[in-house]
Amino acid sequence: MGHICTTPQTGRALDYAWSAREKWLRLAEQAGFEISRADTVVVARTAAELGVLEEFAAERGTGEVRLLDRAGTARLFPPAGDPGSDILGGAHLALDLRVDPRAAIPALAARPASRGVEFVWNTQVGAVSEGAVHTARGDLAATAIVHAAGHDIDRLFPVIAEEHGVRRCRLQMMEVAPPGDIRIEPAILTGYSMLRYGGLGATASAAVVRREITDRAPETLDAVMNLMLTSAPTVRWSSATPITTPAPICPSTKKTSRIWCCAKAPGSSRPVSCRCGGGGAGSTRIRRRPISSWPRPQPVSASSR
Ligand SMILES: Cc1cc2nc3c(=O)[nH]c(=O)nc-3n(C[C@H](O)[C@H](O)[C@H](O)COP(=O)(O)OP(=O)(O)OC[C@H]3O[C@@H](n4cnc5c(N)ncnc54)[C@H](O)[C@@H]3O)c2cc1C
Repeated sequence: MGHICTTPQTGRALDYAWSAREKWLRLAEQAGFEISRADTVVVARTAAELGVLEEFAAERGTGEVRLLDRAGTARLFPPAGDPGSDILGGAHLALDLRVDPRAAIPALAARPASRGVEFVWNTQVGAVSEGAVHTARGDLAATAIVHAAGHDIDRLFPVIAEEHGVRRCRLQMMEVAPPGDIRIEPAILTGYSMLRYGGLGATASAAVVRREITDRAPETLDAVMNLMLTSAPTVRWSSATPITTPAPICPSTKKTSRIWCCAKAPGSSRPVSCRCGGGGAGSTRIRRRPISSWPRPQPVSASSR
């Protein structure tokens, strides 16, 4: 989603996040891609969720976290002002950033490529050994090898992944046309995010939020759900589940659903329309677009060595 979610982190993750924030700002300038200071708004729909935000704001100070009443939340996230909205208020995290990954990643590669760095795209690495990377195009000799295969560490270095208990999870994103001509500049986090990000989750009120969600929709906790959106300008919803979790059940139709699009939208007491077919009575119909395809960086060199 391109959300550089710095402020809600905590501990060592927060140190890394501040450092990453500076790097993104510098890289955007050097590589010439846009970086938006579009911030984050965390919306609160219950007194306990407001409590989380109040505790978090008291700890971090107004430079990082500014509390918003309902009208203030609606200025940044217009659906909060709808008559049917159950949003009570929110918090504005002014230091969070956003990039468009589809623009940023090719720009990041283009800069070193223009200075003679050779990229070998679309090439599977089968193994890494001392001084050599064994690829589907042949072996590459190297004096230094940086391994950055992300979660695929469990394929490339299964023993290391097992030693550290690496567990895959599934994060799904859905891109939809925004309802009406609404524009949402900041990233929007919800009560679920309060349980996910360390800074929010460490507050005393977070335990109450967890109990509320347990009463309301326990299956979403089993799924380790986070529900958030960014707008660019289409709305991108995302939610996460561990990959071992059974397919989620749509709360409207009680059928299994491939995606949690039937969760309630922030600012609405009703579910958004649901991919599993039902949509539920009174659901908010949002016209769906397929998630746009990502431009592939062009190979600088695809020759084998
Ligand atoms: C839908 C979605 C939305 C997200 N939104 C956000 C967000 O808004 N903000 C945020 O901070 N994070 C977000 N994330 C998480 C973020 O994408 C990851 O944390 C991040 O990409 C991890 O970076 P990485 O470089 O470690 O690994 P990756 O980005 O996974 O990169 C690893 C690369 O290595 C390649 N690779 C792996 N194994 C091999 C092999 N054997 N041979 C050759 N190549 C190999 C992979 O193809 C991949 O290109 C999102 C994730 C998803 C799925």
